[in-house]
Amino acid sequence: MAANEQVSNIFDTILVLDFGSQYSHLITRRLREFNIYAEMLPCTQKISELGWTPKGVILSGGPYSVYAEDAPHVDHAIFDLNVPILGICYGMQELAWINGKQVGRGEKREYGPATLKVLEDSNALFKGMNDSTVWMSHGDKLHGLPTGYRTIATSDNSPYCGIAHETKPIYGIQFHPEVTHSTLGKTLLKNFAVDLCHAKQNWTMENFIETEIKRIRKLVGPTAEVIGAVSGGVDSTVASKLMTEAIGDRFHAILVDNGVLRLNEAANVKKTLVEGLKINLMVVDASEEFLTKLKGVTDPEKKRKIIGNTFIHVFEREAEKIKPKDGKEIQFLLQGTLYPDVIESISFKGPSQTIKTHHNVGGLLENMKLKLIEPLRELFKDEVRHLGELLGIPHDLVWRHPFPGPGIAIRVLGEVTKEQVEIARKADNIYIEEIKQAGLYNQISQAFACLLPVKSVGVMGDQRTYDQVIALRAIETTDFMTADWFPFEHSFLKKVAARIVNEVDGVARVTYDITSKPPATVEWE
Ligand code: GLN
Repeated sequence: MAANEQVSNIFDTILVLDFGSQYSHLITRRLREFNIYAEMLPCTQKISELGWTPKGVILSGGPYSVYAEDAPHVDHAIFDLNVPILGICYGMQELAWINGKQVGRGEKREYGPATLKVLEDSNALFKGMNDSTVWMSHGDKLHGLPTGYRTIATSDNSPYCGIAHETKPIYGIQFHPEVTHSTLGKTLLKNFAVDLCHAKQNWTMENFIETEIKRIRKLVGPTAEVIGAVSGGVDSTVASKLMTEAIGDRFHAILVDNGVLRLNEAANVKKTLVEGLKINLMVVDASEEFLTKLKGVTDPEKKRKIIGNTFIHVFEREAEKIKPKDGKEIQFLLQGTLYPDVIESISFKGPSQTIKTHHNVGGLLENMKLKLIEPLRELFKDEVRHLGELLGIPHDLVWRHPFPGPGIAIRVLGEVTKEQVEIARKADNIYIEEIKQAGLYNQISQAFACLLPVKSVGVMGDQRTYDQVIALRAIETTDFMTADWFPFEHSFLKKVAARIVNEVDGVARVTYDITSKPPATVEWE
C-alpha cells in the first residue's frame, strides 16, 4: 500500500468486493462515470482492516459456485456496517447462500440478453428500468428465496432476477448491470449509489486536484524532498505537475535519455516541462551507456532487462547528485501508477493463484531507502487525461499514444545500434507527422514504425539499392487486451511510404502490418 492517506476517507466511497469476475472493474468504472468514488478490493477483505467506512457495498460476480468447497466467501461484518448492499450474480448467490443455502446448478446456463420484469414499481433500485434489456451470464441459480427476502424482479429464465431483504437495504440481482449490454445498467448503479446509499456525487478531477494537493503536502511534510522519473508520457507528466503544484522545487524530476527515445524527445520534454510547466527537471544523457550495453544483443527479453537495469543504475547515480539544500536526504519516490495496475494486482484470482505485484520499482525503494508516493493510483486513464488538461498540460501531450519503456530498442528488431535507432526514429517521425496531418491521430490508439533488419533490393535514381524494411503499425483498441489494425486509406499509405523511402537513408521498402491482437501483439518484440 502506498504511503497515501486513503482517498476513501475524503470522498464518499462505494466498496466493490471482487469475487473474480472479468467485469468487476467495470462496476467501479461505471460508478466513477457519474462522479461517485468507488474502490475495488478482493472479496477476502476483512472489514475491520478497511480503515474507512463505505457508503454502500457491492458484491461482484465471479467464476466460482458458492456451494463449492473452495468457493470464496465474504466477511459477514459487511452486514454490521448498516449500509446498503448489492449482490451481482455470484454476489447475489452469496447472499442467498448465507441466508438458507438455496443455490445450485441450473438446468442450463444462461448467457446473453433477458428482459427485466420489475414487480414493484415503487422499488428504488429498479427506478425507470422496467422492460429494459439486462445481460445474463450464469450457470447456477437460486432454488428458492433466501430467508427474509422477497422477489422484486423476474425474467423469463430467472424467477429470482431481483431480490430484496424485507426490512434492510440489501439487494441481489442475477444480471450484470456493469456491462453496456444491460442497456440501463448504469441507471441501476446510480439508483443504488445515489438514491439508496446517498453517496455524494463529488468525485470530479477539479475536487481531486484540491484534495490531492493537500494530501501530498500533509504526507511529504514541510521539508522532505521527492524524486521521480519522467518519460515524456502523460502519466509521469501529470504526476510531476501535481507534485510541483503541491511542493514546488522540492520535487525533482529526472528524464533519463536512454538513447532509444523518439526523435528529439529529450529536448522536447525539457522545453514542455521546464519552460511550459515549470517543473524542476534534470535531463541526463545516458544514451552512450545504454547503447554500449545493448551492443550485440538481439533477444527482446534481454533488451528489456538491460534497459530496465541500466535505468535503475543511472537513476540512482543521478539522484545522488541532487542534494537538498539543507543536507537532508531525499525521502520519497514518485511513481505514476494508475488504478488499472492496482486493480490488476489486487483483483481476486482464486484460492490457488498468487497475486502479482504491479510495479518494478522495488529495487529503487530498497537501495535508496525511499518511500513510495503514487498520486494517480486511484485514477483511470481518462481521469488522468482530464486531470492533465485541468493542470494546463498541452493537449498533444495529454492525448499522446503510449510508448513502451524500452522505447525504440524493441522497435528496432535485432541488434540496436545508433544508426538503426536513427532510421527507426526518422521513419516513425514522418509516419506520426502524416497521421496528425490527416487528422487521424485521435482515432488511432497507438501507431509507430518498426525497423526490420532484412535487406531488400530496390532501385533509386537508376541505382540498385539494397536496404532495410520499415513496417508501419497502427491499432485501434479500447483496452489494449485485444486490438485491430487501423484501416488507412490507400492514398495515405502511399504518401507515407513514398516519404519514408525518399527521406530516410537506409530504407528500401515500407510495409503495413495487418495483424490483429491476438494472434499478434501490439509491439513487434
Ligand atoms: N459462477 C456463478 C454462476 O455460474 C456466478 C457467475 C457470475 O457471477 N457471473 O452462476
